[in-house]
Amino acid sequence: MLWKLVSANKSPTEVVSYSDFLQMIDDKEVLSSNIYLEANSANIHALLRGSRKYVQTTIATSELPEITARLKDGGAKIEISEAKNGDWTLILLNAAPLILLVGFCLFLMRQMKGNAKRALVLRAATARTGIGYDLHRLEEGRPLIVGGIELPFDKGPVGHSDGDVLAHALCDALLGAAGLGDIGTHFPDTDPKWKGANSMLFLEHAKKLLDEKQFAIEHVDAVVIMEKPKLGPHFPKMREALAKALSVGVEKIHLKAKTNEGVDAIGRGEAIAAHVVATLTSR
Ligand code: MG
Repeated sequence: MLWKLVSANKSPTEVVSYSDFLQMIDDKEVLSSNIYLEANSANIHALLRGSRKYVQTTIATSELPEITARLKDGGAKIEISEAKNGDWTLILLNAAPLILLVGFCLFLMRQMKGNAKRALVLRAATARTGIGYDLHRLEEGRPLIVGGIELPFDKGPVGHSDGDVLAHALCDALLGAAGLGDIGTHFPDTDPKWKGANSMLFLEHAKKLLDEKQFAIEHVDAVVIMEKPKLGPHFPKMREALAKALSVGVEKIHLKAKTNEGVDAIGRGEAIAAHVVATLTSR
């Protein structure tokens, strides 16, 4: 027990064998002793003469009469008592830091587990993804507008508005992620109001709808497919235009260009298409 390692006055206590303790008694080294009785044994704490040193030993109850007799013969003062309830207090006091540490660790583990679960539930509940696709035929003599930028080319998309496939697919991806329908729902091509309209207006309106529903745009990834001209050199300006319309940083807009390897209408230069994936989160 822990109390055996500390004497009553907090002096270090040396644990000695029964035979060594008997020798100390016979040599009259023991000045006083405290004997604590337990069920089948007794613990003896003894103060040695001429020093502040304590020794401690444990004996069987049957050896108690002999020990007390020898102590008396050696002139040692004897106090006998039942094992103290205070021993348990001392044990608890000694063990308190360990108990507190273990308890704190268990508490932390439980909190971390709970937080991880909550984070997973939250992430699953708030992240939303939408997909958008658009294709327009190309005709000679029309302006080629992609991502809000007019590119020098002899063909452009045929459409009710400016025919910006990237903006239209992006609009559909955003509306889809928010569960707000599609571009046709909000800007029907039967409405003359939208004839020849700048598609950046569609994106600005979609952003307004997202704001009303407390959605934030986390990321946009897009692929524009056309045979020519090359789109890559124009991406910086397109990203700026799209980011401005959506009031987000350009780092949230990612664009890629593909050709169709000469296959089908796009490959023959008769059409342009775009695929967009948008990720939103709830605020
Ligand atoms: Mg369209």
